[in-house]
Amino acid sequence: MSRKPLVAGNWKLYKNLRESTELAQALVQATGAESTPEIAVAPVFTALAKVADVLSGSPIALAAQDVFWEPQGAFTGEVGPLQLSDIGCRYVIVGHSERRQLFGETDEQVGRKVSAVLGHGMAPILCVGETLEEREAGQAEAVVVRQLQAGLRGLDAGQATKIVVAYEPVWAIGTGKTASPRDAQQMHARVRATVAERFGGGLAEQLRVLYGGSVKPDNAAALMAEPDIDGALVGGASLTLDAFSAIISAAQ
Ligand code: PEP
Repeated sequence: MSRKPLVAGNWKLYKNLRESTELAQALVQATGAESTPEIAVAPVFTALAKVADVLSGSPIALAAQDVFWEPQGAFTGEVGPLQLSDIGCRYVIVGHSERRQLFGETDEQVGRKVSAVLGHGMAPILCVGETLEEREAGQAEAVVVRQLQAGLRGLDAGQATKIVVAYEPVWAIGTGKTASPRDAQQMHARVRATVAERFGGGLAEQLRVLYGGSVKPDNAAALMAEPDIDGALVGGASLTLDAFSAIISAAQ
């Protein structure tokens, strides 16, 4: 079973409207009509509509960085799945460690978001990953499996085929430290095995598991050469055309 790799750029809270639009335009020009790997970019909410226009007709997918689980209602300040699908998002990053750590997002809330995204025809990029303390305490796999199981709670097989998982060790995000390809591969295999236990090996073989955590042009190829690493979720290095393009090339 061959899985089409996905390289997704998480622009976090960087770039104004003009800068977001310009980077999206440059990516469209550099990509052409078809792309392997699949490419996605996640700008700030305020740039989604403009970037959607730029990406329209190109193979680059639009992604959101987060979502609230209710489609509408008295939830001041939130953005729901209805708005994101309406604007043309194909993917939504869910449970990013910055949301979990800085904004107190719980496993239970992440599970609700996953269901809401799927319920509106989009695909969640479900982020899981252990902190340094958890790794040093020998709990990395247990934490990742717990987060994964919570994210998958209540899903049926049809829904599970649509999700993407991103393994992002928290200690590697934005720090310049990367998991070794061997350690990352081991965790990716664990993620796939966990999905196989729940939904069967056939479905697990189709699941794309991205690696995230200081992916750069000089380490991307070695990471993505591992059999269970199906692409990357890229933060800092997705903010410039040259670095992001080099990572995309490494995934081909
Ligand atoms: C991320 O934001 O998901 C990420 C992995 O960031 P960075 O590549 O900067 O570590």
